[in-house]
Amino acid sequence: MPPNKPLPDGPGLRIAIAGAGIGGLTAALALAARGHTVTLVERRTAFSEVGAGLQLSPNASRLLTDLGLGPALRRVAGEPARVRIRGLASGRTIGEVALGAAMRERFGAPYLVIHRADLQTILLDAVRGRPGIRLLVGRAATGFRETASGASLTVESAGGRAETLEADLVVAADGIRSALRARLDGGALRPVGAAAWRATLPRGQAPGALQGDETGLWLGRGRHVVHYPIAGGERINVVAVLPDRRDEADWSAPGDPARLRAGFADAAAPLAELLAQPRDWLVWTLADRPAARPMARGRLALLGDAAHPVLPFLAQGAALAIEDAAVLAACLAGAPVPQALAAYAAARRPRARQVQRQARRNGRVYHAGGLVAAARDAVMARLGPARMTERYAWLYGWRPAEPTGA
Ligand SMILES: Cc1cc2nc3c(=O)[nH]c(=O)nc-3n(C[C@H](O)[C@H](O)[C@H](O)COP(=O)(O)OP(=O)(O)OC[C@H]3O[C@@H](n4cnc5c(N)ncnc54)[C@H](O)[C@@H]3O)c2cc1C
Repeated sequence: MPPNKPLPDGPGLRIAIAGAGIGGLTAALALAARGHTVTLVERRTAFSEVGAGLQLSPNASRLLTDLGLGPALRRVAGEPARVRIRGLASGRTIGEVALGAAMRERFGAPYLVIHRADLQTILLDAVRGRPGIRLLVGRAATGFRETASGASLTVESAGGRAETLEADLVVAADGIRSALRARLDGGALRPVGAAAWRATLPRGQAPGALQGDETGLWLGRGRHVVHYPIAGGERINVVAVLPDRRDEADWSAPGDPARLRAGFADAAAPLAELLAQPRDWLVWTLADRPAARPMARGRLALLGDAAHPVLPFLAQGAALAIEDAAVLAACLAGAPVPQALAAYAAARRPRARQVQRQARRNGRVYHAGGLVAAARDAVMARLGPARMTERYAWLYGWRPAEPTGA
């Protein structure tokens, strides 16, 4: 880890961000681009995102491109041509969603798939290369306080040493189990009775029918599977969601492959073959809670999963965190901090709630059985690829109220 950079005195605000995940890193870049001075505090000491992929829809890829990350993204991200939706047991194609050129032409930005580690590296490289951002790792944010002249963030190192960072405002981007969220909203996380099993495998090990440049979505009663190529097309990312009653706190708890296979014993041949390949699965118990109310107050703002976790049935959690970052930076241009944060909260909470609702609805639709599943399949087949994409124009076509470029 390079030594901490001294920060130049700038005309902008001093901003402390807790959490250097996708949201915190993007916020640091968006805020520094507007002349603010950012201290980014991360609990972890190493940035290893273990074996998992991420879909980046146009509403998010557009903002990362605005921050100058387009060329780096293009080098490592893939752009699948479509989502092919199949019955989990029958293997029959139910419908398609047009991605690729159709997304780019319709929404002016690509629908990308990327390895999380690659995205994290792109963001970290940009953060380390930008004057005005200081990254402190191995420190956990533990407390926030408003002071006479601003705000302070208490951080603790693993050895127990505490320090206080003075700032004009604090952004809590510390993830789904945020330590700082309780300052604004005490609502608890609620497990939803399902878990996401995640693994990657070399593309060549996947059944031939599943090696194409497309995203596969397999729907069954109470379960679904998503897979797509990542890492420059060299690996395939697999996410399998099935019922689970545990309440794991650790997002990287290892899963027993035999248990996964039992959960998909009725899967169609190519899917069963795909799921049989990876030996190492990580299990993420899915939990939910409403968007924080308020999302910001005084000199504290919540951002990303800390503010509004999104169930992974719409692939929008990271995208919303990226949107939050852009809107926060735009709101802070000129207005006094408390008013700017109130405007941020007012702009973001309705959008976050809409996306959360749609993700929950998708979960119910994906996991339906019987007549409801038959009706779903008929609608998907009738709509066709272009209209399946168009249903999400409100989501993918979103843009911040003003340009966010650096
Ligand atoms: C199975 C699955 C698939 C998904 N697929 C997609 C997808 O395809 N597309 C998409 O957009 N989203 C997806 N998501 C959601 C996405 O992963 C999250 O919404 C996104 O990572 C949230 O980013 P964040 O920065 O808010 O939080 P995080 O990425 O969780 O980052 C929080 C950071 O804060 C740090 N931290 C925690 N506590 C402290 C503290 N006290 N002090 C300092 N640092 C702290 C953590 O170490 C971490 O680095 C998926 C989620 C799951 C579970």
